[in-house]
Amino acid sequence: MDSGGVTVVGAGGRMGAALVRALGTERVPGLALAGALDGPNCPDLGTDAGALAGVGSLGIPVTADFAEATGPAEVLIDFTLHQVTAALAPKVAEAGKAWVIGTTGLDADETAAVEAAAARVPVVMAPNMSLGINLLFVLLADAARALQDRGYDIEILERHHRKKKDAPSGTALGLGKAVADALEWNLDEVACHGRSGYTTEDRPTREIGFHAIRAGDFAGDHTVLFSTEGESLEFSHRATTRDTFAMGALQAAAWVRHQAPGLYSMRDVLGL
Ligand code: NAD
Repeated sequence: MDSGGVTVVGAGGRMGAALVRALGTERVPGLALAGALDGPNCPDLGTDAGALAGVGSLGIPVTADFAEATGPAEVLIDFTLHQVTAALAPKVAEAGKAWVIGTTGLDADETAAVEAAAARVPVVMAPNMSLGINLLFVLLADAARALQDRGYDIEILERHHRKKKDAPSGTALGLGKAVADALEWNLDEVACHGRSGYTTEDRPTREIGFHAIRAGDFAGDHTVLFSTEGESLEFSHRATTRDTFAMGALQAAAWVRHQAPGLYSMRDVLGL
């Protein structure tokens, strides 16, 4: 198999470290660490990415220089911040690199910047890289259609670590979108984010509730609840380690480098 060089973008972060660890221990044949990019304010610039991730020196220092970090790479894997991903889009397209994006929380303009890049290079973008969650996207569509107009309320609960920046999680929104699309609802119109206060009205039937817990070190728990009088059906997924997302992102990297320009999802990668 030919060897694909991977640059980890956000190499100093939690997901960055998980990716460097997986690449440094050769968990995905055919992929190797080629560069480690982080922001100008990263305290670890100049430190070896492997040493930083706890797998020993890999001879690749963390740098804030885009050209230096990405020059030898075929694929970039990006787990950073929404505004960073959007700002990178024209650079990635110009450099002609395949791109895997795990960053969440992008707004419409930021997503448009990624879409513009995807007209020129192959891009996989997914709010959750795990097989289990992507299978859940598929299963939920069936469940939502089967329970439609039968009096079931739909609520989505998620739990993440205390340092997570965006809420609700991109995965929770993705789960909500899977349900809304199946029911031909517009998610923006039916989403209800948290509840407080007093109402005299019953809960609307055409609503998807979102509840975000931030505490401790949860890697990511999601539950989609379909509930009616007399019974509830719950779909739950629990990520116990970030390695799950890292392995999914590496699978996406191995796949996307052989694709034509375009915007792909993990469902495309996994063939679901
Ligand atoms: P983190 O804060 O630990 O890491 C973010 C890294 O980005 C930091 O090292 C930061 O210094 C770096 N960064 C900042 N500015 C930069 C720049 N200009 N260029 C390059 N790097 C820069 O966050 P995390 O927990 O690793 O999560 C990162 C993102 O990934 C979040 O949006 C999170 O929601 C998402 N995420 C997605 C999945 C998935 O499966 N898709 C899984 C986990 C996390």
